[in-house]
Amino acid sequence: MIEILTPTDLLRAKDSGALVADILRTLKSRSAVGTNLLEIDAWARSMIMEAGAQSCYVDYEPSFGRGPFGHYICTSVNDAVLHGLPHDYTLADGDLLSLDLAVSLGGVVADSAISFVVGDVQPPESVALIDATERALRAGIAAAGPGARIGDLSHAIGSVLTAAGYSVNTEFGGHGVGSTMHQDPHISNTGRPGRGYRLRPGLLLALEPWVMADTAQLVTDADGWTLRSATGCRTAHSEHTIAITDDGAEVLTQPLP
Ligand code: MG
Ligand code: MG
Repeated sequence: MIEILTPTDLLRAKDSGALVADILRTLKSRSAVGTNLLEIDAWARSMIMEAGAQSCYVDYEPSFGRGPFGHYICTSVNDAVLHGLPHDYTLADGDLLSLDLAVSLGGVVADSAISFVVGDVQPPESVALIDATERALRAGIAAAGPGARIGDLSHAIGSVLTAAGYSVNTEFGGHGVGSTMHQDPHISNTGRPGRGYRLRPGLLLALEPWVMADTAQLVTDADGWTLRSATGCRTAHSEHTIAITDDGAEVLTQPLP
């Protein structure tokens, strides 16, 4: 199902987006060498509760995961790229951490992910991975607007990732957002321009390019949730929720200055 939001719901979506951005910004600033992933999860929980929002993850039980997720944020470290289940792990210098958060506030969901390197060591390979996903995300957003087709966004995202030398996995990608976290249309991270659903004002989309340094193949961790690169290489993931407006696209999960 594809939801078109009412102007009232779009205003609520802005509040959801601002909350997600604010929580991610805070968690990034607190994530340092010595921080445990379970602390990050606890901080996310308390900020969600304090805001009167609902977690989209804690009871989430999709076909690709094992049982309810049971946590409030995805914490994916190094070779983990998607759905990282928070566990007892202490961050080390040079770890590449991806945080992915979706919450519902006022009945509307916002979904965003950031990747960054923890500590002082900034391995060039990790910096390049993060940069590619951020540039791909910006390209996808630039391609979005009323009248554009999903294939235009997929093509824009995929072109950046491919030009950066990465192969694109098509098992997981972006999606529509609204009263629930995952809705149609699916937005592959590669595709052909001019194809697919035509975007309309009021549509909320989560765009989420992610890459692995030297493979397109995923393996599932023994925890039943965390998806890792098949080769153990480093990975990165960037995501924003955007609203299609009358004259373009507005990023809702942008951190406030
Ligand atoms: Mg997400
Ligand atoms: Mg998403």
